[in-house]
This record gives sequence, C-alpha cells and structure tokens, in this order.
Amino acid sequence: MRKGWIGGNWKMQKLLSEASATASDVVRMSAEVGDSVDVVIYPPFPYLMEIVAKTEGSPIQVGGQNLSDQEYGALTGDVSGPMLKSVGCTSVLVGHSERRHIFGESNDLIAKKLKMALKADLDAVLCVGETLEQRESNQTEKVVTEQVRSALAGIGAEEADRITVAYEPVWAIGTGKVATPEQAVEVHKIIRDLLGRCIGKDYADRTRIHYGGSVKVDNIETLVSNDDIDGTLVGGASLDAGSFAELVQRTGVAKAER
Ligand code: PEP
Repeated sequence: MRKGWIGGNWKMQKLLSEASATASDVVRMSAEVGDSVDVVIYPPFPYLMEIVAKTEGSPIQVGGQNLSDQEYGALTGDVSGPMLKSVGCTSVLVGHSERRHIFGESNDLIAKKLKMALKADLDAVLCVGETLEQRESNQTEKVVTEQVRSALAGIGAEEADRITVAYEPVWAIGTGKVATPEQAVEVHKIIRDLLGRCIGKDYADRTRIHYGGSVKVDNIETLVSNDDIDGTLVGGASLDAGSFAELVQRTGVAKAER
C-alpha cells in the first residue's frame, strides 16, 4: 500500500516572521503525524533555511517551489537543485501550473528541471494538469499524457523512484472549484497506466499520484479516502497552520484506515 502524502505550497505569500510562526505552529500541531502520511511544506526561497531549522527533528519536511534547469552559473535570480539540497530541502515542485502558465515553462524545460532535481538527490513532485479550455475540448488525456511522457523521457526506474506526480487541473487551482473524486480518479488512472507503459508496471504500482486544486478541510476526505488518490498538494488552505494540520490529520486517518 502506498504511503499518504500532503504538500503545502505557500507560493509567494507571507513575510519571514509570518512564515516562521506558521512553520512553528505546523510543527506543534502535527507532532503526532503517524506513519501513514509524509508531510512537506514549500515556503518561498528566502525563508528555506529558517523553516528547515524550525522543522528540524519533526516529521515535517521542507521543499523548494521551483529549481533551475542548471546546476551552477551566471544565472541571476535562479536557484539550483544542489542549493536547495545544501540548505536542507528534501523535495522540490517541478512544473507547477503557475510556472507553466504564468512563467511560460515548456515541457522541455520541465523535463530538464526534473532531471536536475533527481541529480541533486531531491524528491521531485512533477505537477501536470489541463486548462479549462483543454478539458472542455476533451484534450485532458492528451495534454496530461504529453506532460508526463516528456518529463520522464530518459529517466530509468531506479531514478524515477524519487518522483511523485501531482495531478492539478489548472481550472481548480486557487479557484475554489475542486475536481470531483471521479474526475480526479479518472485522470490518476490514466497517469498510472502511462507510468506503467513509460517505466514499468511495478514502478507504476508503487508511485504516488496526488491531486491538487482547491483542497480544503471540507473536501479532503472524499478525495484521499480513495485508493487512487495517494495525497494532495494544497495551496490556499496550507497557509493557515490550523487548517493545514487538520488536512494532515484527515489524510493520516484516511490512509491508515485502508
Ligand atoms: C497549488 O498551488 O498547487 C494549489 C493546488 O493551490 P490551491 O489549493 O489554492 O488551489
């Protein structure tokens, strides 16, 4: 059985004092996280060292929201995988929809970033998902397949074990519109089948696939009680420590009950 997972993506929110206080509260409120769920928070880059220090010795892991496709160099403003690793991050988001659609990151660039994350010995959360227009024109399967296939090209089964996939329909991110469990499961099955074809059936069976898009306390159970939804990537509802701790607790219970 795959372990549950929850990620809190803080995006470009909070000042240092607020982020630091939220991290302390998350650590305190989620002290009893059981073995059934991994918890990762993704603060803005400038706060990473402080938040890693706050979470030390706790079950809460810390990750970067993005990384460069290069290791080092004259790349003003970029942050590399080895840099994230060196400040204590264990994970990184790759290809979040805001990177794809606001910053214009292509499938090719995201594939390079994914390889850099693995090279830096980080867990990588590959984010994929269709826009509303693509869903309404029945292109969801095509779009998601292309996103996953291009990202995994040239990656072997052993390396790929550091990857989890987050299915995040763009129309559900930050909009308050959540995909129904049926909609999410349908796409998760497409992704799992594809992982089997790209890398292998055993790999597909053990790889976690998460849902993201307006997950909140009142809808998380209907999502994570489903065996096909291993966890959730949460934006807005992760900014408040109490709400995030509740989401962590509900995920832990749902995954422990299976
Ligand atoms: C996200 O940022 O990945 C996300 C899913 O945001 P929200 O939960 O706010 O929709």
